[in-house]
Amino acid sequence: METKLFKAESKRLLDLMINSIYTNKEIFLRELISNASDAMDKLYYNSLTDKNININKEDLIIKLTTDPKAKTLTIEDKGIGMSAEELEENLGTIAHSGSFAFKNENEKKDDVDIIGQFGVGFYSAFMVSKKVEVISKKYGADKAYKWTSEGADGYTIEEVEKPDAGTTIILHIKDDREEEKYSEFLGEYRIKGIVKRYSDYIRFPIMMDVTKKVPKEGSKEEFEDKTETETLNSMIPIWKKKKSEVTDEELNSFYAMKFGDFEKPTRVIRASVEGMLNYDMLVYIPSVLPYDYYTKEFEKGLQLYSNGVLIMEKCKDLLPDYFSFVRGLVDSPDLSLNISREILQQDRQLKTIAKNIEKKIKAELEDMLNKNRDEYVKFFKTFGVQLKFGCYNNFGVDKDKLKDLLMFYSSTEQKLVTLKEYVTRMKEGQDKIYYACGETTDKIDMLPQVEGVKSKGYEILYLTDEIDEFVLQILVNYEEKEFANVSANNIDLDSKEDKEKIEKLNEDSKDLLTIMQEAIPDVAKVCFTNRLKEHPVCITTEGAISVEMQKVINALPNNRQVQAKTTLEINGNHQITNKLKELFNNDKEGLKKYAKILYAQAKLIEGLSIDNPTEISNYICDLISK
Ligand code: ADP
Repeated sequence: METKLFKAESKRLLDLMINSIYTNKEIFLRELISNASDAMDKLYYNSLTDKNININKEDLIIKLTTDPKAKTLTIEDKGIGMSAEELEENLGTIAHSGSFAFKNENEKKDDVDIIGQFGVGFYSAFMVSKKVEVISKKYGADKAYKWTSEGADGYTIEEVEKPDAGTTIILHIKDDREEEKYSEFLGEYRIKGIVKRYSDYIRFPIMMDVTKKVPKEGSKEEFEDKTETETLNSMIPIWKKKKSEVTDEELNSFYAMKFGDFEKPTRVIRASVEGMLNYDMLVYIPSVLPYDYYTKEFEKGLQLYSNGVLIMEKCKDLLPDYFSFVRGLVDSPDLSLNISREILQQDRQLKTIAKNIEKKIKAELEDMLNKNRDEYVKFFKTFGVQLKFGCYNNFGVDKDKLKDLLMFYSSTEQKLVTLKEYVTRMKEGQDKIYYACGETTDKIDMLPQVEGVKSKGYEILYLTDEIDEFVLQILVNYEEKEFANVSANNIDLDSKEDKEKIEKLNEDSKDLLTIMQEAIPDVAKVCFTNRLKEHPVCITTEGAISVEMQKVINALPNNRQVQAKTTLEINGNHQITNKLKELFNNDKEGLKKYAKILYAQAKLIEGLSIDNPTEISNYICDLISK
């Protein structure tokens, strides 16, 4: 029989896992039981709509068998089973999609548990087994197949006999070693403990034959072994248990198993609602981005159960887009099992539940913001952009719900702050919320316009996300204070005296400014300004489109190009002003060159590229070689 090789990346990963670091070897059983349970859920779910599937509820059990002599542990289910192709597809490749790429991306962060990136899954069996056999028969198929592998070297698939549909997994447990007693996984007592710990809520009975010593018939002293079949799990879903009966550890472990995220969630939200509509919810706010979050495979949604039975894996109507990172489930006895998915999506009851869930998530985030700032900041750095999109999307219908959850970097506090905090700190007489945009906070901090506003003692919000300025535009104002870009040319912080002085300078220099403007037709206007402190020039904009927005909009595919209406402003208190006047009087051609150089400088400072670098470079060369 031909031995097939695992796909290359699978092999690396498998090696890593088998020889790993992963101290918690016992979780292999949780993974295999959970797969068995999923397989029976699938079959049960299909039977609701497919009349050809006849299942006997009593058959839907997970059977564990240990054989200490043969050193095997067997996990058996009567679920949907796998065809030969599915065995190949599901067990021949680890990490079907993005998880490996994700791992590389995250190698920088050393606190990320590599294996924990995705459900450890089936392969964890190799942490305790030297050989694994998977015998499976797909429901409705005639043939059964056996998949066999001794680890990273490959696997074989062959046809075998198996009467019933379902899957039997035989683990040949590794030999004991000094540092690891694998044989413990052949002990009833240990197995019982692991099941209780990780799989208690599984809604199918997990059964095992256990041997008990019972008094021999008719004797009081002599005992004999008697085998009894015991159900090891309580089958009460974790979300149905009283809050006092469930530990945080159990909730977190359930999360890891269910959603394949081995980073502890930031928050767990539980609620049991009784009344017109009854339901339990168990919802988690993750602490890291789901690995496929920015891929097209990602789907938002909560699991939907009816009386403990999974009826929908991702019910997207239960979560608004801006909370799409949230994971969890809802279980309601009031949702009828037989309604089709389409009808379900329209369901009024679902809408009511969704509204309540949204409120609960929002309240939890507010609580985090108020009581545990560090935790919230960490959350916001990971998921904040989602909240920002939530504000902006659909013309801002949700902006009022979300605006108090937003944070921006503050020039004075040098950390993320909320809009409320900004407004509370505003200076007397300040009627605007100032902001500036750029690639990084450091770059923004060096912008000439920023320097000017900062020197007058105002706090400025530094916007570094592309979406930021669009968000502020859609908010329009916060507590009636308008947002103002420090690069907008209507910012007016001058005293009356200064204003008059600059107006006069502009008035007197009309012809000079016209010559300059004609040399740089890109700008709508050239003028002298008071807004700059040390820097000679800056670009300001008029109207709704700022230079940053122009960059973002023009970078979008299939979008029309926009042009911000710009002004070149020259520092009226800078010595360059005198130089320009001198050129105006003696060398008008020179004045034009200076206009071009100054404009190029201003563009570079803004992070814009210049159209004529050779020309500018030649002018500068001329100047410095004089
Ligand atoms: P995951 O469960 O996270 O998808 P696994 O590696 O545990 O990853 O399993 C891979 C796939 O193999 C499952 O998605 C499922 O389709 C299939 N599978 C595993 N165990 C069983 C089983 N007992 N019965 C049917 N299918 C199974």
